[in-house]
Amino acid sequence: MERSFIILKPSCLKRALVGEIISRFEKKGLRIVQLKVARLPREKVEELYQQHAGKPFYERLVDFMTSDRVVLMVVEGRNAIDVVRRMVGATDPVEANPGTIRGDLALDKTDNLIHACDSPESYEREVRIFFDERELSE
Ligand code: ATP
Ligand code: MG
Repeated sequence: MERSFIILKPSCLKRALVGEIISRFEKKGLRIVQLKVARLPREKVEELYQQHAGKPFYERLVDFMTSDRVVLMVVEGRNAIDVVRRMVGATDPVEANPGTIRGDLALDKTDNLIHACDSPESYEREVRIFFDERELSE
């Protein structure tokens, strides 16, 4: 079964939206494989967003992602990567459709509430930054 890697950005804990967001994934039928709260070190966020290094929004994004605790999750289900991306919505919450997480709950482009991997390759790369093998094999 396919897995997706998700980060609930710092505003999810601040705004008490963790339950709401996790609930959407559970109701959809995705199974939670792993879930943890962590304050991310700068190096790990830089590794996650390596393809954006140097872009105008990069520094603000890394500052934001290291500003407070996040929720890291792995979910599993049929076509999980694509299903999660559709549920998350467009990068800019202004353009994200109603019914999506960003469309319903976010407005800011940096603080768009959630990160999700976008391919099997990005899943493999990203999940290894934040989880070890033992945590993923059960
Ligand atoms: P994510 O990778 O976080 O799931 P995404 O795939 O929709 O989001 P990316 O293009 O990978 O978007 O950008 C990563 C993150 O960088 C976005 O979630 C957003 O917070 C931020 N970002 C991207 N483009 C911009 C921009 N033009 N202005 C401000 N922030 C941006
Ligand atoms: Mg992305």
